[in-house]
Amino acid sequence: MATIRASCGNCGDVQLTTGDVTVRMCVTTDEGEYRFECPSCADLVVRHAEQRTIDLLLAAGVALTTWSLPAELFEARDGAPISHDDLIDFHASLQNDDAIAAFFADLS
Ligand SMILES: [Zn+2]
Repeated sequence: MATIRASCGNCGDVQLTTGDVTVRMCVTTDEGEYRFECPSCADLVVRHAEQRTIDLLLAAGVALTTWSLPAELFEARDGAPISHDDLIDFHASLQNDDAIAAFFADLS
């Protein structure tokens, strides 16, 4: 296993093995980061990484996990944004059993 030198915000430079580090890539944006648990203070350290760094870590045998942005971010939107008053109205409607029953009755 290769030795990887990284930096913890609390402890400074720390030495890790490839098994201690994980690379996470967003498949939507191609942005990535690496993360590890500091062997000294046990903090989870997460660092943004350029593609070159990611390539080096992966070539050394670091595990890769991927994720993507939620599809809801790309949905077409229209109408006014939800306001504070909308939230208060929604909260009040959740207190009204008859309104909830009417809502579900409309769905069927
Ligand atoms: Zn640390």
